[in-house]
Amino acid sequence: MQKNVFQFLDVPRQPPRELPVSVRVLGWKEIYGDFAPAEAAEQSARCIECGNPYCEWKCPVHNYIPNWLKLVREGRLFEAAALAHETNPLPEVCGRVCPQDRLCEGDCTLEDGFGAVTIGAVEKYIVDEAFRQGWRPDLSRVAPTGRKVAVVGAGPAGLSCADRLARAGIQAHVYDRNEEIGGLLTFGIPPFKLDKAVVATRRGVLEHMGVRFHLGTEIGRDVAFETLLADYDAVFVGTGAYTPVDGRLPGQDLPGVHPALDFLIANGRRVLGTARDGAGPPELTGRRVVVLGGGDTAMDCVRTAIRLGAADVTCVYRRDEAAMPGSRREVKNARDEGVHFLFNRQPLAIEGDATRGVAGVRLAETAPGGGRASAAALVEGSESVLPADVVIIAFGFRPSPPAWLAEHGVALTPDGRIDTDEPRRYATSHPRIFAGGDAVRGADLVVTAVFEGREAGKAIAHALADRAVPPHPL
Ligand code: FAD
Ligand code: SF4
Repeated sequence: MQKNVFQFLDVPRQPPRELPVSVRVLGWKEIYGDFAPAEAAEQSARCIECGNPYCEWKCPVHNYIPNWLKLVREGRLFEAAALAHETNPLPEVCGRVCPQDRLCEGDCTLEDGFGAVTIGAVEKYIVDEAFRQGWRPDLSRVAPTGRKVAVVGAGPAGLSCADRLARAGIQAHVYDRNEEIGGLLTFGIPPFKLDKAVVATRRGVLEHMGVRFHLGTEIGRDVAFETLLADYDAVFVGTGAYTPVDGRLPGQDLPGVHPALDFLIANGRRVLGTARDGAGPPELTGRRVVVLGGGDTAMDCVRTAIRLGAADVTCVYRRDEAAMPGSRREVKNARDEGVHFLFNRQPLAIEGDATRGVAGVRLAETAPGGGRASAAALVEGSESVLPADVVIIAFGFRPSPPAWLAEHGVALTPDGRIDTDEPRRYATSHPRIFAGGDAVRGADLVVTAVFEGREAGKAIAHALADRAVPPHPL
Protein backbone atom coordinates (compact mmCIF):
# COMPACT_ATOMS: atom_id res chain seq x y z
CA MET A 1 0.00 0.00 0.00
CA GLN A 2 1.45 3.38 -1.03
CA LYS A 3 1.87 5.68 1.95
CA ASN A 4 0.68 9.28 1.87
CA VAL A 5 3.43 10.99 3.87
CA PHE A 6 1.21 14.03 4.34
CA GLN A 7 -1.64 12.08 5.94
CA PHE A 8 -1.07 14.10 9.13
CA LEU A 9 -2.23 17.22 7.24
CA ASP A 10 -5.54 15.63 6.23
CA VAL A 11 -6.22 13.43 9.27
CA PRO A 12 -6.20 15.10 12.68
CA ARG A 13 -4.96 13.35 15.81
CA GLN A 14 -7.97 11.44 17.07
CA PRO A 15 -7.57 9.33 20.24
CA PRO A 16 -10.19 6.62 20.89
CA ARG A 17 -13.52 7.79 22.25
CA GLU A 18 -13.64 8.54 25.96
CA LEU A 19 -16.50 7.65 28.25
CA PRO A 20 -18.47 10.86 28.93
CA VAL A 21 -17.61 12.31 32.34
CA SER A 22 -21.19 11.86 33.60
CA VAL A 23 -20.95 8.12 32.91
CA ARG A 24 -17.37 7.42 33.92
CA VAL A 25 -17.68 8.83 37.44
CA LEU A 26 -20.50 6.35 38.14
CA GLY A 27 -18.25 3.30 37.88
CA TRP A 28 -14.82 1.78 37.51
CA LYS A 29 -14.58 1.14 33.76
CA GLU A 30 -11.47 2.28 31.88
CA ILE A 31 -12.30 5.72 30.52
CA TYR A 32 -10.65 5.29 27.09
CA GLY A 33 -12.36 3.15 24.44
CA ASP A 34 -10.75 0.97 21.75
CA PHE A 35 -9.74 1.75 18.19
CA ALA A 36 -11.49 -0.19 15.43
CA PRO A 37 -8.88 -1.66 13.02
CA ALA A 38 -9.54 1.05 10.39
CA GLU A 39 -9.15 3.81 12.99
CA ALA A 40 -5.88 2.34 14.26
CA ALA A 41 -4.56 2.10 10.69
CA GLU A 42 -5.62 5.67 9.87
CA GLN A 43 -4.04 7.13 13.02
CA SER A 44 -0.87 5.06 12.51
CA ALA A 45 -0.57 6.37 8.95
CA ARG A 46 -0.15 9.89 10.36
CA CYS A 47 3.40 8.93 11.37
CA ILE A 48 5.96 10.43 8.99
CA GLU A 49 8.53 7.74 9.87
CA CYS A 50 11.20 10.16 11.06
CA GLY A 51 14.72 9.04 10.16
CA ASN A 52 15.70 9.77 13.74
CA PRO A 53 12.52 8.87 15.67
CA TYR A 54 12.41 11.05 18.78
CA CYS A 55 9.48 9.01 20.09
CA GLU A 56 11.65 5.90 20.18
CA TRP A 57 14.57 7.65 21.86
CA LYS A 58 12.34 9.11 24.54
CA CYS A 59 10.63 5.78 25.27
CA PRO A 60 12.45 4.20 28.27
CA VAL A 61 12.28 0.73 26.65
CA HIS A 62 13.04 2.15 23.17
CA ASN A 63 9.99 0.63 21.52
CA TYR A 64 10.24 0.28 17.72
CA ILE A 65 7.37 2.75 17.42
CA PRO A 66 7.48 3.84 13.75
CA ASN A 67 8.01 0.20 12.71
CA TRP A 68 4.93 -1.12 14.48
CA LEU A 69 2.87 1.89 13.39
CA LYS A 70 3.77 0.93 9.80
CA LEU A 71 2.74 -2.70 10.39
CA VAL A 72 -0.63 -1.53 11.77
CA ARG A 73 -1.12 0.72 8.75
CA GLU A 74 -0.47 -2.32 6.56
CA GLY A 75 -2.86 -4.52 8.58
CA ARG A 76 -0.04 -6.85 9.75
CA LEU A 77 -1.34 -7.12 13.30
CA PHE A 78 0.44 -10.27 14.52
CA GLU A 79 3.82 -9.00 13.27
CA ALA A 80 3.15 -5.72 15.08
CA ALA A 81 2.36 -7.65 18.29
CA ALA A 82 5.56 -9.70 18.02
CA LEU A 83 7.61 -6.55 17.38
CA ALA A 84 5.98 -4.70 20.30
CA HIS A 85 6.99 -7.60 22.59
CA GLU A 86 10.61 -7.50 21.43
CA THR A 87 11.21 -4.39 23.50
CA ASN A 88 8.34 -4.48 25.98
CA PRO A 89 7.08 -7.56 27.86
CA LEU A 90 3.91 -5.63 28.91
CA PRO A 91 2.96 -3.40 25.96
CA GLU A 92 -0.81 -3.51 26.59
CA VAL A 93 -0.16 -2.18 30.12
CA CYS A 94 2.22 0.58 29.02
CA GLY A 95 -0.20 1.59 26.24
CA ARG A 96 -2.70 2.29 29.02
CA VAL A 97 -0.72 3.75 31.93
CA CYS A 98 2.46 5.33 30.53
CA PRO A 99 2.50 9.13 30.76
CA GLN A 100 2.87 9.33 26.96
CA ASP A 101 2.40 13.10 27.10
CA ARG A 102 5.83 13.43 28.68
CA LEU A 103 7.46 10.45 26.92
CA CYS A 104 6.95 9.24 23.32
CA GLU A 105 4.02 11.47 22.33
CA GLY A 106 5.54 14.50 24.05
CA ASP A 107 8.59 14.11 21.78
CA CYS A 108 6.74 13.19 18.58
CA THR A 109 7.76 15.49 15.71
CA LEU A 110 4.10 16.19 14.98
CA GLU A 111 3.32 17.28 18.54
CA ASP A 112 4.18 20.87 17.73
CA GLY A 113 1.37 22.15 15.53
CA PHE A 114 -0.27 18.96 14.23
CA GLY A 115 -0.88 16.74 17.26
CA ALA A 116 1.30 13.76 18.18
CA VAL A 117 0.59 10.34 16.72
CA THR A 118 -1.67 8.44 19.16
CA ILE A 119 1.18 6.06 20.05
CA GLY A 120 -0.17 4.77 23.38
CA ALA A 121 -3.63 4.01 22.02
CA VAL A 122 -2.16 2.14 19.01
CA GLU A 123 0.13 0.12 21.31
CA LYS A 124 -2.91 -0.90 23.38
CA TYR A 125 -4.87 -1.72 20.21
CA ILE A 126 -2.10 -3.95 18.81
CA VAL A 127 -1.88 -6.22 21.82
CA ASP A 128 -5.56 -6.28 22.87
CA GLU A 129 -6.62 -7.12 19.33
CA ALA A 130 -3.84 -9.65 18.71
CA PHE A 131 -4.67 -11.46 21.97
CA ARG A 132 -8.37 -11.36 21.08
CA GLN A 133 -7.54 -13.00 17.74
CA GLY A 134 -5.52 -15.73 19.49
CA TRP A 135 -1.95 -14.51 18.96
CA ARG A 136 0.53 -15.59 21.64
CA PRO A 137 4.34 -15.13 21.90
CA ASP A 138 6.00 -17.92 19.93
CA LEU A 139 8.54 -19.80 22.04
CA SER A 140 8.55 -22.90 19.85
CA ARG A 141 12.23 -22.44 18.96
CA VAL A 142 13.38 -21.84 22.53
CA ALA A 143 15.52 -24.72 23.84
CA PRO A 144 15.21 -25.39 27.60
CA THR A 145 18.52 -24.79 29.38
CA GLY A 146 17.69 -26.77 32.51
CA ARG A 147 18.31 -23.64 34.58
CA LYS A 148 15.74 -22.17 36.94
CA VAL A 149 15.46 -18.73 38.52
CA ALA A 150 13.31 -17.42 41.37
CA VAL A 151 11.69 -14.02 40.88
CA VAL A 152 10.53 -12.26 44.05
CA GLY A 153 7.72 -9.83 43.24
CA ALA A 154 5.11 -10.16 40.49
CA GLY A 155 5.03 -6.43 39.68
CA PRO A 156 6.02 -5.14 36.24
CA ALA A 157 9.74 -5.60 37.00
CA GLY A 158 9.35 -9.23 38.08
CA LEU A 159 6.94 -10.09 35.24
CA SER A 160 9.26 -8.54 32.65
CA CYS A 161 12.22 -10.45 34.05
CA ALA A 162 10.20 -13.70 33.96
CA ASP A 163 9.25 -13.04 30.33
CA ARG A 164 12.89 -12.65 29.26
CA LEU A 165 13.94 -15.71 31.26
CA ALA A 166 11.25 -17.80 29.58
CA ARG A 167 12.42 -16.58 26.16
CA ALA A 168 15.95 -17.67 27.10
CA GLY A 169 14.81 -21.21 28.01
CA ILE A 170 15.11 -20.61 31.75
CA GLN A 171 12.32 -21.78 34.06
CA ALA A 172 11.06 -18.74 35.98
CA HIS A 173 9.26 -19.24 39.31
CA VAL A 174 7.60 -15.99 40.42
CA TYR A 175 6.76 -15.51 44.12
CA ASP A 176 4.44 -12.79 45.44
CA ARG A 177 2.85 -12.15 48.81
CA ASN A 178 -0.34 -10.96 47.10
CA GLU A 179 -3.04 -13.32 45.89
CA GLU A 180 -2.79 -12.02 42.32
CA ILE A 181 0.05 -10.96 40.02
CA GLY A 182 0.67 -7.35 38.96
CA GLY A 183 2.05 -5.59 42.06
CA LEU A 184 0.88 -1.99 41.84
CA LEU A 185 -0.76 -2.74 38.48
CA THR A 186 -3.34 -4.75 40.42
CA PHE A 187 -3.14 -3.33 43.95
CA GLY A 188 -2.48 0.36 43.36
CA ILE A 189 -3.44 1.71 39.93
CA PRO A 190 -7.24 2.07 39.91
CA PRO A 191 -9.41 0.08 37.48
CA PHE A 192 -10.50 3.20 35.54
CA LYS A 193 -6.86 3.46 34.35
CA LEU A 194 -6.14 -0.26 34.04
CA ASP A 195 -8.86 -2.91 33.97
CA LYS A 196 -7.73 -5.88 36.06
CA ALA A 197 -8.89 -8.27 33.31
CA VAL A 198 -5.89 -6.99 31.32
CA VAL A 199 -3.52 -8.21 34.04
CA ALA A 200 -5.38 -11.54 34.24
CA THR A 201 -4.93 -12.02 30.47
CA ARG A 202 -1.20 -11.33 30.84
CA ARG A 203 -1.01 -13.92 33.60
CA GLY A 204 -2.46 -16.49 31.21
CA VAL A 205 0.04 -15.50 28.51
CA LEU A 206 3.01 -15.84 30.89
CA GLU A 207 1.75 -19.22 32.14
CA HIS A 208 1.42 -20.29 28.50
CA MET A 209 5.10 -19.29 28.13
CA GLY A 210 5.98 -21.62 31.00
CA VAL A 211 6.25 -19.14 33.88
CA ARG A 212 5.14 -20.61 37.23
CA PHE A 213 3.48 -18.39 39.86
CA HIS A 214 3.57 -18.99 43.62
CA LEU A 215 1.09 -16.44 44.94
CA GLY A 216 0.12 -15.61 48.51
CA THR A 217 3.73 -16.48 49.40
CA GLU A 218 5.83 -13.90 51.20
CA ILE A 219 9.57 -14.49 51.00
CA GLY A 220 11.05 -14.12 54.47
CA ARG A 221 7.80 -15.24 56.12
CA ASP A 222 6.30 -18.20 54.21
CA VAL A 223 9.48 -19.24 52.43
CA ALA A 224 12.98 -18.40 53.69
CA PHE A 225 15.24 -16.51 51.29
CA GLU A 226 17.91 -19.19 51.93
CA THR A 227 15.55 -21.71 50.35
CA LEU A 228 15.46 -19.70 47.13
CA LEU A 229 19.23 -19.41 47.07
CA ALA A 230 19.51 -23.16 47.64
CA ASP A 231 16.87 -24.20 45.12
CA TYR A 232 17.51 -21.84 42.22
CA ASP A 233 20.45 -20.86 40.02
CA ALA A 234 19.79 -17.15 40.60
CA VAL A 235 17.23 -14.86 42.24
CA PHE A 236 15.72 -11.64 40.88
CA VAL A 237 14.37 -9.20 43.48
CA GLY A 238 11.63 -6.81 42.32
CA THR A 239 9.92 -6.04 45.60
CA GLY A 240 8.95 -2.41 44.87
CA ALA A 241 8.97 0.69 47.11
CA TYR A 242 6.26 0.75 49.76
CA THR A 243 7.36 2.98 52.66
CA PRO A 244 5.12 6.08 52.56
CA VAL A 245 6.98 9.41 52.79
CA ASP A 246 6.14 10.74 56.25
CA GLY A 247 5.01 14.39 56.17
CA ARG A 248 5.16 14.46 60.01
CA LEU A 249 2.00 16.53 60.12
CA PRO A 250 0.47 17.09 63.55
CA GLY A 251 -2.88 15.28 63.50
CA GLN A 252 -1.95 12.73 60.82
CA ASP A 253 -3.06 9.88 63.13
CA LEU A 254 -6.58 11.26 63.63
CA PRO A 255 -9.55 9.10 62.61
CA GLY A 256 -10.43 10.04 59.03
CA VAL A 257 -6.81 10.36 57.82
CA HIS A 258 -5.76 7.64 55.36
CA PRO A 259 -2.47 6.78 53.64
CA ALA A 260 -2.99 6.85 49.85
CA LEU A 261 -2.01 3.28 49.09
CA ASP A 262 -4.16 1.78 51.88
CA PHE A 263 -7.10 3.74 50.49
CA LEU A 264 -6.48 2.63 46.87
CA ILE A 265 -5.79 -1.01 47.79
CA ALA A 266 -8.94 -1.22 49.92
CA ASN A 267 -10.99 0.09 47.03
CA GLY A 268 -9.15 -2.04 44.45
CA ARG A 269 -9.82 -5.21 46.45
CA ARG A 270 -13.49 -4.27 46.85
CA VAL A 271 -13.86 -3.74 43.09
CA LEU A 272 -11.98 -7.02 42.42
CA GLY A 273 -14.20 -8.82 44.93
CA THR A 274 -11.22 -10.00 47.00
CA ALA A 275 -11.72 -7.75 50.05
CA ARG A 276 -10.97 -9.61 53.28
CA ASP A 277 -13.67 -9.74 55.98
CA GLY A 278 -15.84 -7.27 54.05
CA ALA A 279 -13.13 -4.59 54.45
CA GLY A 280 -13.35 -1.68 52.04
CA PRO A 281 -12.47 1.96 51.56
CA PRO A 282 -13.87 4.57 53.98
CA GLU A 283 -17.43 5.73 53.44
CA LEU A 284 -17.13 8.94 51.40
CA THR A 285 -20.70 9.57 50.27
CA GLY A 286 -21.52 13.23 50.80
CA ARG A 287 -18.20 13.94 52.53
CA ARG A 288 -15.54 16.59 51.92
CA VAL A 289 -12.28 14.94 50.94
CA VAL A 290 -8.87 16.62 50.84
CA VAL A 291 -5.96 14.84 49.15
CA LEU A 292 -2.47 16.09 50.00
CA GLY A 293 0.14 15.67 47.23
CA GLY A 294 0.38 16.31 43.51
CA GLY A 295 1.70 13.14 41.83
CA ASP A 296 -0.02 10.31 39.98
CA THR A 297 -0.97 8.61 43.24
CA ALA A 298 -2.74 11.79 44.38
CA MET A 299 -4.62 11.92 41.04
CA ASP A 300 -5.69 8.29 41.50
CA CYS A 301 -6.95 9.12 45.01
CA VAL A 302 -8.96 12.19 44.00
CA ARG A 303 -10.58 10.37 41.08
CA THR A 304 -11.36 7.35 43.27
CA ALA A 305 -12.91 9.65 45.90
CA ILE A 306 -15.16 11.21 43.23
CA ARG A 307 -16.36 7.72 42.21
CA LEU A 308 -17.02 6.84 45.85
CA GLY A 309 -19.56 9.68 46.00
CA ALA A 310 -17.62 12.39 47.87
CA ALA A 311 -19.49 15.71 47.91
CA ASP A 312 -16.34 17.73 47.33
CA VAL A 313 -12.79 16.66 46.49
CA THR A 314 -9.81 19.04 46.71
CA CYS A 315 -6.21 18.32 45.80
CA VAL A 316 -3.71 20.42 47.75
CA TYR A 317 -0.23 20.82 46.23
CA ARG A 318 2.63 22.89 47.60
CA ARG A 319 3.86 24.11 44.21
CA ASP A 320 2.16 25.47 41.11
CA GLU A 321 0.52 23.31 38.45
CA ALA A 322 3.57 23.39 36.15
CA ALA A 323 5.68 21.75 38.88
CA MET A 324 3.31 18.80 39.38
CA PRO A 325 5.32 15.59 38.95
CA GLY A 326 2.65 13.40 37.32
CA SER A 327 1.01 13.11 33.93
CA ARG A 328 -0.80 16.22 32.60
CA ARG A 329 -3.45 13.91 31.16
CA GLU A 330 -4.35 12.64 34.64
CA VAL A 331 -4.61 16.19 36.03
CA LYS A 332 -6.97 17.08 33.17
CA ASN A 333 -9.04 13.95 33.78
CA ALA A 334 -9.30 14.78 37.47
CA ARG A 335 -10.38 18.33 36.73
CA ASP A 336 -12.94 17.15 34.15
CA GLU A 337 -14.36 14.79 36.78
CA GLY A 338 -14.94 17.65 39.22
CA VAL A 339 -11.81 17.74 41.39
CA HIS A 340 -10.76 21.16 42.73
CA PHE A 341 -7.09 22.10 42.93
CA LEU A 342 -5.43 24.35 45.47
CA PHE A 343 -1.90 25.14 44.30
CA ASN A 344 0.91 26.80 46.28
CA ARG A 345 -0.43 25.56 49.60
CA GLN A 346 1.72 23.83 52.21
CA PRO A 347 -0.17 21.66 54.72
CA LEU A 348 0.91 22.51 58.28
CA ALA A 349 -1.39 20.31 60.37
CA ILE A 350 -4.55 18.24 60.27
CA GLU A 351 -7.12 19.69 62.63
CA GLY A 352 -9.75 17.81 64.60
CA ASP A 353 -9.92 15.56 67.64
CA ALA A 354 -9.81 11.87 68.46
CA THR A 355 -13.59 11.67 69.07
CA ARG A 356 -15.00 13.49 66.07
CA GLY A 357 -12.03 12.90 63.75
CA VAL A 358 -10.82 15.27 61.06
CA ALA A 359 -12.21 18.81 60.89
CA GLY A 360 -9.89 20.39 58.35
CA VAL A 361 -6.35 20.98 57.13
CA ARG A 362 -4.32 24.00 58.24
CA LEU A 363 -2.55 25.42 55.18
CA ALA A 364 -0.11 28.22 54.44
CA GLU A 365 0.43 29.79 51.04
CA THR A 366 3.80 29.24 49.40
CA ALA A 367 5.71 31.69 47.24
CA PRO A 368 5.42 31.00 43.50
CA GLY A 369 8.38 29.45 41.67
CA GLY A 370 11.01 27.06 43.01
CA GLY A 371 11.69 23.52 41.89
CA ARG A 372 10.00 20.38 43.16
CA ALA A 373 13.06 19.36 45.15
CA SER A 374 13.53 22.59 47.08
CA ALA A 375 11.54 23.49 50.19
CA ALA A 376 8.62 25.83 49.47
CA ALA A 377 8.96 29.30 51.07
CA LEU A 378 5.87 30.12 53.16
CA VAL A 379 4.05 33.44 52.78
CA GLU A 380 3.84 35.11 56.18
CA GLY A 381 0.34 35.58 57.61
CA SER A 382 -1.30 33.41 54.92
CA GLU A 383 -2.54 30.57 57.13
CA SER A 384 -6.10 29.29 56.77
CA VAL A 385 -8.06 26.10 57.48
CA LEU A 386 -9.63 24.13 54.65
CA PRO A 387 -12.63 22.22 56.10
CA ALA A 388 -12.52 18.44 55.52
CA ASP A 389 -14.15 15.22 56.75
CA VAL A 390 -11.54 12.89 55.26
CA VAL A 391 -7.87 13.51 54.45
CA ILE A 392 -5.80 11.24 52.19
CA ILE A 393 -2.02 11.59 52.31
CA ALA A 394 -0.20 10.98 49.02
CA PHE A 395 3.34 12.27 49.55
CA GLY A 396 4.98 9.39 47.64
CA PHE A 397 6.97 6.31 48.56
CA ARG A 398 10.48 5.41 49.61
CA PRO A 399 12.24 2.06 49.16
CA SER A 400 11.28 -0.75 51.54
CA PRO A 401 14.15 -3.26 51.26
CA PRO A 402 13.28 -6.61 52.91
CA ALA A 403 15.58 -7.36 55.87
CA TRP A 404 16.84 -10.59 54.24
CA LEU A 405 18.72 -8.62 51.59
CA ALA A 406 21.19 -7.06 54.03
CA GLU A 407 21.35 -10.37 55.93
CA HIS A 408 22.70 -11.97 52.75
CA GLY A 409 25.27 -9.26 52.15
CA VAL A 410 23.34 -7.40 49.43
CA ALA A 411 24.60 -3.80 49.41
CA LEU A 412 22.00 -1.04 49.70
CA THR A 413 22.39 2.65 48.90
CA PRO A 414 22.20 5.13 51.81
CA ASP A 415 18.53 5.84 50.94
CA GLY A 416 17.59 2.14 51.06
CA ARG A 417 17.57 1.20 47.37
CA ILE A 418 19.20 -2.05 46.25
CA ASP A 419 22.59 -1.09 44.86
CA THR A 420 23.03 -2.32 41.28
CA ASP A 421 25.24 0.55 40.17
CA GLU A 422 27.92 0.38 37.47
CA PRO A 423 29.78 -1.68 36.58
CA ARG A 424 27.45 -4.50 37.66
CA ARG A 425 24.17 -3.36 36.04
CA TYR A 426 21.15 -5.29 37.36
CA ALA A 427 23.38 -7.52 39.47
CA THR A 428 23.68 -6.83 43.19
CA SER A 429 26.83 -7.21 45.26
CA HIS A 430 25.83 -10.90 45.69
CA PRO A 431 26.84 -12.94 42.60
CA ARG A 432 23.52 -14.83 42.35
CA ILE A 433 21.10 -12.03 43.28
CA PHE A 434 19.84 -9.57 40.66
CA ALA A 435 17.35 -6.72 41.12
CA GLY A 436 15.30 -4.08 39.32
CA GLY A 437 12.26 -1.79 39.34
CA ASP A 438 11.18 0.51 42.18
CA ALA A 439 13.31 -1.49 44.66
CA VAL A 440 16.37 -0.26 42.75
CA ARG A 441 15.22 3.12 41.35
CA GLY A 442 12.89 4.28 44.11
CA ALA A 443 9.23 4.91 43.23
CA ASP A 444 9.11 5.57 39.50
CA LEU A 445 7.09 4.34 36.52
CA VAL A 446 5.73 1.07 35.16
CA VAL A 447 7.79 1.43 32.00
CA THR A 448 11.08 1.94 33.87
CA ALA A 449 10.31 -1.15 36.00
CA VAL A 450 9.59 -3.04 32.75
CA PHE A 451 12.94 -1.88 31.33
CA GLU A 452 14.89 -2.96 34.40
CA GLY A 453 13.13 -6.33 34.62
CA ARG A 454 13.78 -6.94 30.93
CA GLU A 455 17.45 -6.03 31.18
CA ALA A 456 17.93 -7.99 34.41
CA GLY A 457 16.36 -11.06 32.76
CA LYS A 458 18.84 -10.74 29.90
CA ALA A 459 21.73 -10.19 32.34
CA ILE A 460 20.77 -13.35 34.28
CA ALA A 461 20.53 -15.38 31.06
CA HIS A 462 24.00 -14.15 30.02
CA ALA A 463 25.47 -14.87 33.43
CA LEU A 464 24.03 -18.40 33.46
CA ALA A 465 25.13 -19.08 29.87
CA ASP A 466 28.66 -17.80 30.59
CA ARG A 467 28.77 -19.97 33.71
CA ALA A 468 29.56 -16.71 35.57
CA VAL A 469 26.96 -18.10 37.96
CA PRO A 470 27.60 -21.75 38.86
CA PRO A 471 24.75 -24.29 38.63
CA HIS A 472 22.52 -24.26 41.70
CA PRO A 473 23.82 -26.45 44.49
CA LEU A 474 21.01 -29.03 44.52
P1 FAD B 1 5.62 -3.27 42.34
O1 FAD B 1 4.65 -3.02 41.26
O2 FAD B 1 5.44 -2.55 43.61
O3 FAD B 1 5.65 -4.84 42.63
C1 FAD B 1 6.41 -5.37 43.70
C2 FAD B 1 5.80 -6.69 44.10
O4 FAD B 1 6.67 -7.32 45.04
C3 FAD B 1 4.45 -6.55 44.80
O5 FAD B 1 3.50 -7.36 44.14
C4 FAD B 1 4.71 -7.06 46.22
O6 FAD B 1 3.60 -7.73 46.77
C5 FAD B 1 5.86 -8.01 46.00
N1 FAD B 1 6.67 -8.25 47.20
C6 FAD B 1 7.32 -7.33 47.96
N2 FAD B 1 7.99 -7.95 48.97
C7 FAD B 1 7.76 -9.28 48.82
C8 FAD B 1 8.17 -10.44 49.54
N3 FAD B 1 8.97 -10.37 50.63
N4 FAD B 1 7.73 -11.65 49.13
C9 FAD B 1 6.92 -11.76 48.04
N5 FAD B 1 6.50 -10.69 47.32
C10 FAD B 1 6.92 -9.48 47.69
N6 FAD B 1 3.36 4.27 36.96
C11 FAD B 1 3.02 4.56 35.69
O7 FAD B 1 3.85 4.40 34.79
N7 FAD B 1 1.77 4.99 35.37
C12 FAD B 1 0.80 5.15 36.30
O8 FAD B 1 -0.32 5.55 35.98
C13 FAD B 1 1.13 4.86 37.65
N8 FAD B 1 0.19 4.96 38.62
C14 FAD B 1 0.52 4.65 39.89
C15 FAD B 1 -0.45 4.73 40.87
C16 FAD B 1 -0.16 4.42 42.18
C17 FAD B 1 -1.23 4.51 43.21
C18 FAD B 1 1.16 4.03 42.53
C19 FAD B 1 1.50 3.73 43.96
C20 FAD B 1 2.14 3.92 41.56
C21 FAD B 1 1.82 4.23 40.24
N9 FAD B 1 2.78 4.12 39.24
C22 FAD B 1 2.44 4.40 37.94
C23 FAD B 1 4.14 3.60 39.53
C24 FAD B 1 4.24 2.11 39.16
O9 FAD B 1 3.08 1.42 39.54
C25 FAD B 1 5.48 1.49 39.80
O10 FAD B 1 6.61 2.26 39.45
C26 FAD B 1 5.70 0.05 39.33
O11 FAD B 1 4.58 -0.76 39.63
C27 FAD B 1 6.95 -0.55 39.97
O12 FAD B 1 7.06 -1.89 39.60
P2 FAD B 1 7.86 -2.95 40.49
O13 FAD B 1 7.67 -4.27 39.81
O14 FAD B 1 9.22 -2.47 40.75
O15 FAD B 1 7.12 -2.95 41.91
FE1 SF4 C 1 6.26 8.86 13.86
FE2 SF4 C 1 6.09 10.86 15.74
FE3 SF4 C 1 7.80 8.81 16.07
FE4 SF4 C 1 8.25 10.64 14.11
S1 SF4 C 1 8.29 11.02 16.33
S2 SF4 C 1 8.48 8.38 13.95
S3 SF4 C 1 6.12 11.09 13.50
S4 SF4 C 1 5.54 8.64 15.98
